[in-house]
Amino acid sequence: MNLPLITRAIEYDEKIAIIVPSGANATTVEAFTYKDLLHTSSQIATCLLQDAEDLQEQRVAYIIPPGFEYVATQWGIWRAGGIAVPLCISHPRPELEYVIINSGASIIVAHPNYEDILRRIATEHNLRFILTSETLPNHIVPLPNIDINRRALILYTSGTTGKPKGVVTTHQNIQAQVTSLITAWEWNKSDRILHILPLHHIHGIINVLTCALWAGAECHMLSFFDAQTVWNRICEGDLTLFMAVPTIYVKLIAAWENESSERQKIMSAGCAKMRLMVSGSAALPVQVLEKWQTISSHFLLERYGMTEIGMALSNPLHGQRYSGYVGQPLPRVEVRLVDETGLSPLGAPGEIQVKSPGVFLEYWQNPQATAKAFQDGWFCTGDFAVVENGNYRILGRMSVDIIKTGGYKVSALEIEEVLRSHPDIQECAVVGVADLEWGERVCAALVLQPQRQLTLESFRSWAKELLAVYKIPSRILTVEELPRNAMGKVIKPTVVELFQSS
Ligand code: AMP
Repeated sequence: MNLPLITRAIEYDEKIAIIVPSGANATTVEAFTYKDLLHTSSQIATCLLQDAEDLQEQRVAYIIPPGFEYVATQWGIWRAGGIAVPLCISHPRPELEYVIINSGASIIVAHPNYEDILRRIATEHNLRFILTSETLPNHIVPLPNIDINRRALILYTSGTTGKPKGVVTTHQNIQAQVTSLITAWEWNKSDRILHILPLHHIHGIINVLTCALWAGAECHMLSFFDAQTVWNRICEGDLTLFMAVPTIYVKLIAAWENESSERQKIMSAGCAKMRLMVSGSAALPVQVLEKWQTISSHFLLERYGMTEIGMALSNPLHGQRYSGYVGQPLPRVEVRLVDETGLSPLGAPGEIQVKSPGVFLEYWQNPQATAKAFQDGWFCTGDFAVVENGNYRILGRMSVDIIKTGGYKVSALEIEEVLRSHPDIQECAVVGVADLEWGERVCAALVLQPQRQLTLESFRSWAKELLAVYKIPSRILTVEELPRNAMGKVIKPTVVELFQSS
């Protein structure tokens, strides 16, 4: 049996699946059909399999910029029976190596742009290394039957303890996450979505890419986010859907404001032609929602979700949406609020807990963390919410050590551990400080070694070698000592105040 995603693609056949910019300065586009996707992914699967009949859930890490090769490789891994482990194209070596080693990947597939770093990692750890530029086999071997209960994907996500954890979803989990959104947001074959989100995160992989391909829609992929390019594309007036994090809407608003009123009209008209614009992955400030409405005529549909559960809550496609609220449970998703005493009384706040077929299988090789994350079969999100007039309002996170910046979830503790390896830093406390553009800005209070000084510039260029750019504090503050409570624990809210008042 083929995976349902593949069976559906066979039906879509000559229909266009992926469109990417091409030519010098990306002035033209290149289109790939579902048939192309099926053919190339079967060649990739053949290459991955070598003499094996089934990869039997071997992990295949891949680092490929957004585009047809990325998707064909992901499908090739799935069709060969492997688990896809997407790597972030902007991560420095230590973060890439962590994911590769933690997932126990036995094969790395890399685009030539990343050959230097990835080949070295592969050689050092004795892993099979494949470049996407290698010639693919013409003779395609029979591909294995994949049961949908098998593991499909590992996405790394930051938590409140230690290093990022691998969130494992099965093909069945992905199917449930995707079909819930297809039903709720009425995805269909005539949809055309612009894909501008990272492809190592649930938002880009599931909500945009896999939903589009499940529905038989067209996914128009840009290689990176650039406000001007996005606006140019929107102005063409042929897109039906757009999904982004609040930070991206803030950047698009700034770019719109810089234009002449004539151009603004064309930009706004492009938005008005779409049927739906969605925001998620972080709280959408009401000012941003309102400004975007004046620009685009769209009342952004805000939704709430998480790598571990897929999407859980959403404002409605039809019917009243409320700013500051994330709506109601999506199809086949059960949501409850729980406080210290049990189920929260009606109208009282509580932790969001979720049960649905889309909830992940496990944290990769971490049964303790998996067990701790569930209460009576319900996944504990660590987010607080309240229900008002039937709609959920997110109140915040239970841990101050989880920071949401530009839609990325980062762990203050993980960043602190890296900062402590700086020769001039004695102690540090990393916090998220509220910011209209980034949601939260990563900030670090530092106690330096005696007689040492540190500029933001030199600090950031040091950190770039060790941390993904979105994790690197964009503000630092040198302090004599960190505010601590009687137990010696750093008082993070006081650290946040230090930044707010400086
Ligand atoms: P991630 O797993 O990276 O998608 O991060 C999930 C976390 O993002 C959730 O646990 C929330 O803390 C946050 N989040 C996602 N959507 C929203 C939203 N609409 N409003 C507020 N926080 C959100």
